[in-house]
Amino acid sequence: MKNILAGPMDAIKADLATEITSPDRYKLLQRKIVLLMALVTLLPLLSLAAINYYEHQSSMSAEIQAPLRALVGKAKHSFELFLAERTSAVSFIASAYSFEELSNDANLQRIFQVMRREFTGFVDLGLIDTQGNQISYAGPYDLAGRNYAEQAWFRQVQFKGAYVSDVFLGFRQFPHVVIAVRHTTESGKSWILRATLDTMHFDRIISAMGLEPGSDAFLVNRQGVLQTESRQYGHVLDALPFSLPPTNFEANALAILDPQGRDIFLASAFIADTDFALVAIKPKPTILSTWYTVRADLLFIFVTGVAVIFLAVYRLTSVLIKRLQESDEQRMGAIHQMEHSQKLSSIGRLAAGVAHEINNPIAIINEKAGLMRDILNMRPEFPDKEKFIKQIEAILRSVDRCRGITHRMLGFAKRMDVKIEVLDLNAVLLETLGFLEREAQYRNVELRHNLAENLQAISTDHGQIQQVFLNILNNALAAVPDGGTITLTSWDKDQNFVGISVEDNGCGMSEETCKHMFEPFFTTKKEKGTGLGMSITYGIVKRLGGDIQVKSKLGEGTTITIMLPKKPVEG
Ligand code: ADP
Ligand code: MG
Repeated sequence: MKNILAGPMDAIKADLATEITSPDRYKLLQRKIVLLMALVTLLPLLSLAAINYYEHQSSMSAEIQAPLRALVGKAKHSFELFLAERTSAVSFIASAYSFEELSNDANLQRIFQVMRREFTGFVDLGLIDTQGNQISYAGPYDLAGRNYAEQAWFRQVQFKGAYVSDVFLGFRQFPHVVIAVRHTTESGKSWILRATLDTMHFDRIISAMGLEPGSDAFLVNRQGVLQTESRQYGHVLDALPFSLPPTNFEANALAILDPQGRDIFLASAFIADTDFALVAIKPKPTILSTWYTVRADLLFIFVTGVAVIFLAVYRLTSVLIKRLQESDEQRMGAIHQMEHSQKLSSIGRLAAGVAHEINNPIAIINEKAGLMRDILNMRPEFPDKEKFIKQIEAILRSVDRCRGITHRMLGFAKRMDVKIEVLDLNAVLLETLGFLEREAQYRNVELRHNLAENLQAISTDHGQIQQVFLNILNNALAAVPDGGTITLTSWDKDQNFVGISVEDNGCGMSEETCKHMFEPFFTTKKEKGTGLGMSITYGIVKRLGGDIQVKSKLGEGTTITIMLPKKPVEG
């Protein structure tokens, strides 16, 4: 069906249909809203949590690193003091005695004894001339007469004046260091005094650091060779299994991953005038266990918070979207209704115009035909008079029918006066059924009545109600197959309305047909239908203040229900 008015309305409808009927649209909208709300609420929460996390972590780390750094600083100081004391002792002896005094073994022995008494750790003492020859020696080893000219420390001390060697294993397989001092007299003569220290005292300083289990501290030289025992990374003179992070003379601390994959804090500092760095290590997990519980709590709160927010947002938007959908559907319904009444009123106006225009020529035909009949009646001698009169009467009957039609059309357009009377709807229904009984009988269609007894009489227009029933019953009869059933039901709906329904087990309607069935000129019956029945019915029912509903399933049947007010409506 297509009519001139359908164009713009269809466009609006199509627009609305795509906008509203697609269920994805609401899902999409809901997803967008949930996402946006989640973003708006979660973003601050997330950043807050992140900031909190990092602040806490860095302050925790600082709190742990600071004492570790201080510990290394203090121990480094002890090492420096220990070595400086011993270096100056050797230096003092080298300058307090002359070369001759020192080259005497007995003298040197005596001096060495005093030195050992005053300073712990010395193992031996020897005098060496500038050629590297050992001149005299006091100590447990038989080193007299040795030449050190080729040794690295000898060249170092010649050059630097004082020198502390790396740790080495002495003859007794004890770790030692060498302290060597060069002395030059005013006359330009110079000699070297060399003392060996055992490094037991190093271990003592380290154990004085009071390390907890799992922690570690050791000396390591610039080449990465351990100078003292390490609890975790090897023995004296083993290579440290990882390279030392950048270190200077100020103690500094940082977090690293050791070769065993442990998270550790490491503090280190070089010891002045030596090649050694002092390193202290604390494993991270034990240190940070408090922080880990705090973090777990934080995480729990965060996750629960997020879940609650998501749930709330989801529920809220669900409700909102449902409301939106409902209101959209209502709007859609209202627009449908509006469109409908607009169409009906347009067709009504059109019909009224046509009826009005046709009324005049029909009146003329009527008048002229009547005149012809009168003239014929006055001429008894007219040949074939009876035949003519019969034809003229046929014309007059057709004109009458035309009048009836235009009258109906005008009625549809509300131009006809509504004549309100008190009616028994059951009676009107049965009376209308009377027109169709013959056809029903002929086609073996069963007509069932299920009418309410004592149905309250209502005030309404007899002719129009009859037309409504006729249109509906006609359609039902057209829909049912031979041997089908049509059931008429009436009931007292409530204080203000009575209900009448016509149910058939006919062909039923598709959704599409249902949508359009009230539209003027919409028909599925090709030339057999006018498509006016239901639109006129709709117009009448609405005008009388009633309502009409359709329930139909393709192939199963249709039920048309109308509700009519008991009292006539104004206007
Ligand atoms: P017409 O009867 O001239 O086709 P109507 O306005 O009376 O026009 O009906 C419009 C259309 O509605 C019909 O063509 C038909 O497709 C459908 N229709 C109406 N009533 C029924 C019914 N009881 N069963 C099946 N289809 C129906
Ligand atoms: Mg019809």
